[in-house]
Amino acid sequence: MSRPPYHGLDFHVGKTPLVRLKRLSELTGCEILGKAEFMNPGGSVKDRAAHGIITDAERRGLLKPGDTIVEGTAGNTGIGLTVVGHARGYKTVIVIPDTQSPEKFQQLRTLGAEVMPVPAKPYSDPGNYNHIARGLAEERGWFWANQFDNTANRKAHYDTTGPEIWEQTGGSVDAFVASVGTGGTLAGTSQYLKERNPKVAAVCADPYGAAMWSWFTNGNLDDDDGDSFAEGIGQGRVTKNLEGITVDKAYRIGDQVALSVIYQLLHEEGIFVGLSSGINVAGAVRYALEHGPGLTIATILCDSGAKYQSKIFNPEWLLENGLEPGLPVESALKV
Ligand code: PMP
Repeated sequence: MSRPPYHGLDFHVGKTPLVRLKRLSELTGCEILGKAEFMNPGGSVKDRAAHGIITDAERRGLLKPGDTIVEGTAGNTGIGLTVVGHARGYKTVIVIPDTQSPEKFQQLRTLGAEVMPVPAKPYSDPGNYNHIARGLAEERGWFWANQFDNTANRKAHYDTTGPEIWEQTGGSVDAFVASVGTGGTLAGTSQYLKERNPKVAAVCADPYGAAMWSWFTNGNLDDDDGDSFAEGIGQGRVTKNLEGITVDKAYRIGDQVALSVIYQLLHEEGIFVGLSSGINVAGAVRYALEHGPGLTIATILCDSGAKYQSKIFNPEWLLENGLEPGLPVESALKV
């Protein structure tokens, strides 16, 4: 018998399980399904974007072994670029706002990335982490991954996340729900699913303090309404990855609702995820309540809760920030 082909870790990004969220499926009469992206090699959905961006840059001759990749990131893209980058012989420099969880800094440093914490500043400020990363690339001749406006990001989801969900649901998916950081996940996945079946609804779940709900609902970028502790999401502009996409419905989800969802998943289903996953799943439940029963709704379990142990899984931190872990999910979601 011939030996099967074996591959390095960079080959094993994606092909994640699509997990039935039992309790919420029963409560809504819909199949609520979460793509277990925390099972990726670097532990998040951003491994897909990192893999897509690096592979695209190699194809275009922009990267050769020994080169340095620089990126501005809330952390997960930096982890993905470092894991895939090391597997392919690149170094990484990660520019990250100092508001992000300490666990992400630790993980990046342990992986061997050069980590540059910077004060959190809006995109309009030249000190914003993305502009710093671009400046470093220009000065030092490094490759800038540019996840927000490099459409190799959304293409990675068009090529992988979309087809996987289509296959895993046997083509029966009715809606896809995602929050927006760069927009790569929402754009690429929904574009693919709509090409297979134009009736698949693309749904955006937005945290407070971001502009995507306003953008997809009213066509303006108002974002002066509240705030969120969710890391990795909360976009205020139309990135290149979001340009031209069709979104059928958008919801705003509060942190307390998302928190109730992730504690329910943790205690009743053994699923340990971060706050953006809670926002996604709450969005899926809202869509189910408005359009179900009987629908199959897929969403993204973006990353593991282990990255936020010191914050949303720390009772003292929750108390300081006016959040409660123990609210029943039925009342939080009004199911
Ligand atoms: N959740 C988390 C935890 C993330 O790190 C990100 C990416 N920044 C997202 C959700 C959003 O993904 P995307 O960039 O594809 O919109």
